[in-house]
Amino acid sequence: MKPKVLVVEDELSILENVLYSLQTEGFDAVGCRTGAEAMGALLGGDDIRLAVLDIGLPDTTGFDLCREMRSRTRIPIIFLTARDAEIDRVLGLELGADDYVVKPFSPRELSARVRAVLRRCAAAAPDADAAPAQTGGGAAAPLEVDGDRMVIRYFGEPLPLSSTEFRLLRTLCAHPGRVYSRSQLMHAAWDEPDAAMERTVDAHIKSLRSKMRAVRAEPDALQTHRGLGYSLRETW
Ligand code: CA
Repeated sequence: MKPKVLVVEDELSILENVLYSLQTEGFDAVGCRTGAEAMGALLGGDDIRLAVLDIGLPDTTGFDLCREMRSRTRIPIIFLTARDAEIDRVLGLELGADDYVVKPFSPRELSARVRAVLRRCAAAAPDADAAPAQTGGGAAAPLEVDGDRMVIRYFGEPLPLSSTEFRLLRTLCAHPGRVYSRSQLMHAAWDEPDAAMERTVDAHIKSLRSKMRAVRAEPDALQTHRGLGYSLRETW
């Protein structure tokens, strides 16, 4: 059976685009344009497996809708966000979104992220009704982030990082295993992100990797996900 994905977006052209793309990629995508409709769909008995939420909605915000959904179900939530200020809230502990996509986004990128989140959730909690799964099976990552001193220790060694590398690695450390796209990493690590800079993320990751390998050659702490982005290794 195709996984059912609920998309809440009031801008009709974006909604239609996203639904079309998700359907093409093998999902059973349903759309809503208000928070009230979305809660109706969620509680209406349909087996919705994941929700994609826009933040600016006519009758509520994506933040409030997320809280309302989370009080009733544990389905993963992906946000569509437009501004950096929103990204901070989306990533915050309070909301704890499973992922987010920065507008303007390509519908294919969103489909890839929906697939990745569903795969991760299926691996973490085979029984959807079970208690929230403990993440990962292995030991904690051998990384300590000292935000006050802007230092990250890897196997106890402080890494000699530039401020951009520090911000990149701190972002990856926040959610080991989560795959971040180049555009997400750029928004997290640069003050003025610009689409033309996406390739520079690769260069900084390469430099980070070699600094971490200098401390410990194996295992590879940073993982590349072709066509998606990068993540910090989840199990050690
Ligand atoms: Ca909107």
